[in-house]
Amino acid sequence: MLVANRNQQGEPEKVEEQAEDADGNGTMESLRRSLRLARRITGNDGGSLGLHPAVFFCGPSGVRSNPMFMGTVALIGKRLANNDPTFFDKFTAVRAAFEAELIAKKDLIATILQKHSSRKRVGTYEHLLGALLILLETGGTPTEEWLIEQAGLRGRVLAGSARQQGSRFSDEARSEVFIAQALSGAPRCPICSGYLDPEKSMSYDHIERVRDGGVGEADNLKLTHPYCNQSVRQ
Ligand SMILES: [Zn+2]
Repeated sequence: MLVANRNQQGEPEKVEEQAEDADGNGTMESLRRSLRLARRITGNDGGSLGLHPAVFFCGPSGVRSNPMFMGTVALIGKRLANNDPTFFDKFTAVRAAFEAELIAKKDLIATILQKHSSRKRVGTYEHLLGALLILLETGGTPTEEWLIEQAGLRGRVLAGSARQQGSRFSDEARSEVFIAQALSGAPRCPICSGYLDPEKSMSYDHIERVRDGGVGEADNLKLTHPYCNQSVRQ
């Protein structure tokens, strides 16, 4: 709830900074904001990005990572608080490349987060996501060195492969297998090419549009992110 309550600068308000809430209206408003934010991240509402947990919220071993989840929520929560309507379109435009980088560099990102104290991990992940989006939007290619520098860990040894010796599976190898399995059955959105999370977030779109005579039959149906479906209709 703290994450959804943001001031004008988009920073979370501390409980003691929030106005007195004698009649409970503040609590209701805060719940509404939390719900609005949650509906942007998952679920079937029209504005939902339908983020796949394995891509955004899970560490290399497949366990849901709290800093990764909260960091993603913080990024989107700030854009909503700042009323930044271009963010979602810009996100969607680079989504496939963005997700590919998050997958390819998951082990490195997890190592970067471990190098930070626990209270800095959410902010670090949020910063990495934001910086990566901007880099991709401007046509850049993120290298491992770039990510390490973005995280303020330049010069620190982070090489994953150097840690591993002998017959033990490396973290990277395990990460690769987990990700491959988690996403093997996940369909892609035909509009943005990002991964779909069919269990929690899905929209049905006509392949041939209704206004062009498209019918509501299975062979004229495609699965999309709710946000993508809503955007192409506009
Ligand atoms: Zn999409």
